[in-house]
Amino acid sequence: MNSNEELFVQSKKYLPGGVDSPVRAFKPYPFFVKKASGSKIWDVEDNVYTDHCLAYGPLILGHSHSTIVEEVTKQIAIGTVYGAPTENEIKLAKMVIDRVPCAEMVRFVNSGTEATMGAIRLARGFTGKNKIVKFEGAYHGAHDYVLVKSGSGGACLPDSLGIPEDTTKNTLSSPFNNKEKLLKLIEENKNDIAAIIVEPVMGNIGCVEPKDDFLKFLREITSEHDILLIFDEVITGFRLEYGGAQQYFNITPDIVTFGKILGGGFPIGAIAGKKEIMELIAPLGKVYQAGTFNGNPISITGGLTTLKELTPQFYKDLNKKSEKLRNRISDIINDLGLAIKPVGLSSMFQLYFNSEDVFNYDDAKKSDVNKFNDYFHELLKKGIFIPPSQFECCFISSAHTNEDLENLALSIESALRTVF
Ligand SMILES: *Cc1c(COP(=O)(O)O)cnc(C)c1O
Repeated sequence: MNSNEELFVQSKKYLPGGVDSPVRAFKPYPFFVKKASGSKIWDVEDNVYTDHCLAYGPLILGHSHSTIVEEVTKQIAIGTVYGAPTENEIKLAKMVIDRVPCAEMVRFVNSGTEATMGAIRLARGFTGKNKIVKFEGAYHGAHDYVLVKSGSGGACLPDSLGIPEDTTKNTLSSPFNNKEKLLKLIEENKNDIAAIIVEPVMGNIGCVEPKDDFLKFLREITSEHDILLIFDEVITGFRLEYGGAQQYFNITPDIVTFGKILGGGFPIGAIAGKKEIMELIAPLGKVYQAGTFNGNPISITGGLTTLKELTPQFYKDLNKKSEKLRNRISDIINDLGLAIKPVGLSSMFQLYFNSEDVFNYDDAKKSDVNKFNDYFHELLKKGIFIPPSQFECCFISSAHTNEDLENLALSIESALRTVF
C-alpha cells in the first residue's frame, strides 16, 4: 500500500505541484483519497475524516447520495454523452427557472469558470460595452477576464503570468462592501461598463456577507447606468436557500451563473437570466458559446436528482442545524476569550484568525494565516477535513449528523486550545 507521502512524491513527478488544482496542495503533503461516503472521506492510509471541505461546495447532500448513485448509474448504462439534446435538459432548466427569480432561460456548460466566461461575454454582447467590474478577492473561475485580484487559490499566489494586459485592462476591481469607491469607479468609466459581477456572499476569501444593503445598492446603481448585474452564484446557488442568494437577499440580478451544487457531484455550470438577454446566445443569437459536454446526460441527471431533494423544507432543516453549530462555535470562542471571528450563514462557516471584523479582501488578508494553518492541521489530526486555506469556506451537508457537528465543535475547541 502506498502512503500519502509516497503518493505525493510520485504525483509531484507527473502533476505540477502534485495536484490538479492549486488549493488542494497543502504542506507537507495532501492526503490521497481512497473513497468517500456521506459525511466521511477516507485516505489511502485508511484515516477517516469528517468532510467539511466537501469538494469546495458541490456536495450539499454529502458524498455518493444513494438516489444520485442510482439515477446516474441508470443513465450511464444508456449513454454518457450524446451530442444531441435530451428531455432532461428541459426538465432541469425548468427547475432552475422555477426557483431562481432572474432565470427565464438557461444554458448548461461544464464548470463555473465556463459559466462566468460565457456570462461576461453575454453581458458585453448585450450592452456593446467592454469593461467589467469585479470585487477584490472575488473568485469567478480561472479564465483570463477575471484573474485580477482573485480569491480562492489566487489569494495565496501572485497574479498569474500568461494573461495579456490587453485582456485585463477591461477588468476593473473595487473593494466589496464599499459604496463610495464603487461609485467613483463607475463615474470614471461611465459609458464603458458592461457588467458588475459579484459573489453575493464572498465565499473565496473565507465567508464575507454583504452589509448595509450592498447588493441592493448594486442593483440600483447598475440599473441607473445601463450596466448588467451578474450574480456569480456558483457557491450560493442552491446553497443559501431554495432560490439561492437572490431569494435569500431578495435582489434580482440580470444574469446568474451556477456550478458546484447544480451538478450533484458531477461537472456542470450554467448561465441563466432574463429572456431578452439569454436570447442573444448562439444559435439563437450572436454571442457564441458551445461545448462538447454541455448539458451532458450524466451531469444533468446528477443535477435533476439533487434539486428534487432540495425542497424548501430541506433548507429549513439544514440551515437550522448549521446555525446551531455556528452558535456553538461562537460560544466556544467567547468562553476561550479568543480574538478571532466566527463567520458564516446558511450552511457555510469559517473562522477568521483576525481580531477585526472582515468586510472585504484587505480585511481578510490581515488574518493570521500561520495560525490558521496550525488550526487546519490540528483539525486534520482529529479527523476533521476543512479546506486548507483561510481564504476558503467550510460547508455542512445534509449527510452530517448532529453527532458529526457536535464532534466538530469539540474538535474546534480542542484545536483552538492547542493553537493559542
Ligand atoms: C468555484 C467557483 C467558480 C469556478 O467554478 P469551477 O467549476 O471551479 O470552474 C466560479 N465562481 C465562484 C463563486 C466559485 O466559487
